[in-house]
Amino acid sequence: MKFPSIVPPSMRKAALALAIVVAAATSFLAQPASCAPRPSGELMVDVLDVGQGDSILIRSPEGKTALIDAGPSKNVVSLLRQKGVTSIDLLVLTHHHSDHYGGMAEVIRAFKPRVFLATNSSHTTSSYLKLLQLVRDEGIKAIGPTEAVRKIGLGSVVLNVLPQPPDNTKEENDNSIGIRIDYGNFSALMTGDSESRSRSYWLRTCPNMVRDCTILKLAHHGSRNGTDAKWLDSVRPEQAVVSLGAGNDYGHPHPETLSLLDRKRIPLLRTDLAGTISIVSDGKTWDVTTSKRGRSAELTARPKAHPSTHDPKVAAVSRLLDLNTATEQQLMTIPGIGPTSARKVIAGRPYDSVDDLHKVRGLGAARIAELEPNVTVR
Ligand SMILES: [Zn+2]
Repeated sequence: MKFPSIVPPSMRKAALALAIVVAAATSFLAQPASCAPRPSGELMVDVLDVGQGDSILIRSPEGKTALIDAGPSKNVVSLLRQKGVTSIDLLVLTHHHSDHYGGMAEVIRAFKPRVFLATNSSHTTSSYLKLLQLVRDEGIKAIGPTEAVRKIGLGSVVLNVLPQPPDNTKEENDNSIGIRIDYGNFSALMTGDSESRSRSYWLRTCPNMVRDCTILKLAHHGSRNGTDAKWLDSVRPEQAVVSLGAGNDYGHPHPETLSLLDRKRIPLLRTDLAGTISIVSDGKTWDVTTSKRGRSAELTARPKAHPSTHDPKVAAVSRLLDLNTATEQQLMTIPGIGPTSARKVIAGRPYDSVDDLHKVRGLGAARIAELEPNVTVR
């Protein structure tokens, strides 16, 4: 690669190093798929239920796998195995805090990632240095974010690594790596535990990357310093998700964050209530399901109109949702039903009987099978 002669030698050296890294990243993409491709051509994003920490699994339609953070503990390995993960192409550590890399050494040993993406922030601890040593010992290619948006292809999915804010020596959260995932019309934004300084930096330096995302993972576990009105007005997510532990010591999610989302009418799914949050997209539409059935309903103001009863028969009937009156959020508490299907059900009103579901445009047999045991027409 040639550089114009006006570029000073020091910069040329840096640019050459960058070119090598970019070439390395590109060649990693050209390798064969790491596990079985998704026959449906869908991107899958799982916000894993790891307690108070983050771990987000991304699988491309071609079977490429990336993991952003590895939770507070080694439990993440068994969660990944349950999801059928056998290898990882790209492992990302957003920042050097243990609730994001507590299980990373075990992930590295179990899945031998091919590329490791982390910052060279000045915040280091002996446990982080030990992790870096393991990355070296395992011969994993280490790369970093750059000063411009860095695009990494995960099969047909593009991971846009946002420009790295200047190193903040006082607040490691502000050194978090931000990633926008793009697949067709679908996008998701993950920014680690970023606080206002790094979010302002991205709003200024790469506004297109932090605008109009389908899904937003709230930064810093729903802390008041991880979300603000200006950020939400730019990102304008259709759905917010957040990863945190039940009854955590930090009071996450903070009430200010919840009321802000409420004011902006942005629905929220929380791993502490809903378990693992699984989002699928074919690049045109998207859907979300959760591992804990019905728990997310506690969040979504499900009416308390049903009289409590000890008669199991009556209780079973009272849990059925009325096809003519159930809200989108209520329909989404049914396993396998996400917003796209819920909206189709609502568009198909009025219903004379549950059988009318078969007349709803675009609602497949699998979705109808999920709905039937859970709905009624009163
Ligand atoms: Zn954290």
